Amino acid sequence: MPNNQRTSNDVTSLSPRHYQNYIGGTFRDHATDTLEVHNPANGDLLGYVPNSDAATVDEAVSAAIAAQPSWEKLPAIQRAGYLRQISAGIRRRRDHLAAIIVEEQGKIRNLAETEVAFAADYFDYMAEWARRLEGEVLTSDRVAETILLMHKPLGTVAGILPWNFPFFMIARKVGPALLTGNTIVIKPSEETPINAHEFAALVAETDLPPGVFNLVSGTGVVCGHSLTAHTGVNMVTFTGSVGTGVKIMETAARNLTRVNLELGGKAPAIVLADADLDLAARAIHASRIINTGQVCNCAERVYVDQTVYEPFLARLKDLFANTRYGDPSRESGLDMGPLINHAAVTRISGIVENARQAGAEIIVGGQVCDTKPGFHYQPTLLANVTPDMEVMRRETFGPVLPVMAVSGLDEAIALSNDSEYGLTSSIYSSNINAVLKACRELKFGETYVNRENFEAMQGFHAGRRKSGIGGADGKHGLYEFMETHVVYIQG
Ligand code: NAD
Repeated sequence: MPNNQRTSNDVTSLSPRHYQNYIGGTFRDHATDTLEVHNPANGDLLGYVPNSDAATVDEAVSAAIAAQPSWEKLPAIQRAGYLRQISAGIRRRRDHLAAIIVEEQGKIRNLAETEVAFAADYFDYMAEWARRLEGEVLTSDRVAETILLMHKPLGTVAGILPWNFPFFMIARKVGPALLTGNTIVIKPSEETPINAHEFAALVAETDLPPGVFNLVSGTGVVCGHSLTAHTGVNMVTFTGSVGTGVKIMETAARNLTRVNLELGGKAPAIVLADADLDLAARAIHASRIINTGQVCNCAERVYVDQTVYEPFLARLKDLFANTRYGDPSRESGLDMGPLINHAAVTRISGIVENARQAGAEIIVGGQVCDTKPGFHYQPTLLANVTPDMEVMRRETFGPVLPVMAVSGLDEAIALSNDSEYGLTSSIYSSNINAVLKACRELKFGETYVNRENFEAMQGFHAGRRKSGIGGADGKHGLYEFMETHVVYIQG
């Protein structure tokens, strides 16, 4: 039964209110200082969350450590039962959670609903692993010896989250951590913490033992850093930018704490002469504008065979010119909402301006939208780009698509691989041999063939080079939350 002594964080309206951390199964005011949360589409104040300090983080980690031994001892099938309670709670609150994501992150409504539904499915998917966690029995070189490989939880995990799919990221960290017998402390992005506090509210309504799941809000430099530096944390699982990933790795290295890093991308899309150009244009456009281009695995640069460059560009021009954008909390029928903050507008304008000055042609857009309140940037299509331009090398993370003509598959593969990122890639072709060659030679964690995003929960989402260390999802992602204990039995 739900623990009635807990203070609920539940809200029934989006009027600004104060949220509390969730530590050891209770909502409490741990911080005197707060952070404001605003709607990026219109600046509305949505609420206040704690700006947690190191002492508060220590309380949360201590609660997670205290809860871990008995959580680990539960049969996995019982732990899975709690995950199913969580997924049921998410489904019951789907509309409310989606509304918060729309307000807090600026996502369009149907994408926010998809995100919430996917998070619920993700908890159920992880629960299904309860009867499939396996060890191994190995043959020994020695007489009468048996070798066992046992997989055990790491202990206490810290999950540090980005803002772009804030609710799904909770599921991606919490689901596998808990199923495998770890306890967790999460820290949401200071841009989008409210959905995480709402998640804590629904967790509080389940029977999950106190301390198994904990939430602290705050800045990256204090709260996130304290969590990473804490000696009681056995793994930091982080999704966010490369720069922060490097800092987290440096901090974690001092205690030799394990890290799992899901970082940025600069996904290439290759369009060959025999591709279905309508399909490719629609998929790449949709990929670039979904979540206003703020997705790590969506097409950031296009290499198109020179023989179909003009007709392909014409299709993209039409799609970009007809992209509807605005404030998803007040308008319907939109394709995309705002960028997350002013810094994003500045970064993207700078990248586009640098490209223009270096000779790129702006086919559509290319301007900050100053006729609307909020952080809006026009859907932008660029041609005449060259491989050395910043727009072809740096993660733009906005609705900006540069398109470059290439001589064929070999050049497209070489340019694709010439990047410090290696998360996802895509290819459009009806030639199976060309596709297989690309899959052999592309140095990326994922390749999408004749489609764009997203990854699947049963796959393995992992970046090469600066796109990350380790991965998430599926069996391989699950085992990242465990360590191997080898037992040698003589007799
Ligand atoms: P970010 O790096 O700015 O922040 C992410 C989180 O790190 C936030 O919670 C922040 O408070 C925290 N943080 C900041 N400094 C910290 C520090 N010194 N120590 C500990 N924590 C700290 O990233 P963002 O802007 O929220 O997210 C966008 C980035 O995330 C993009 O680069 C995108 O590509 C990447 N991303 C990657 C994936 C993936 O699966 N590979 C998925 C989504 C987003």
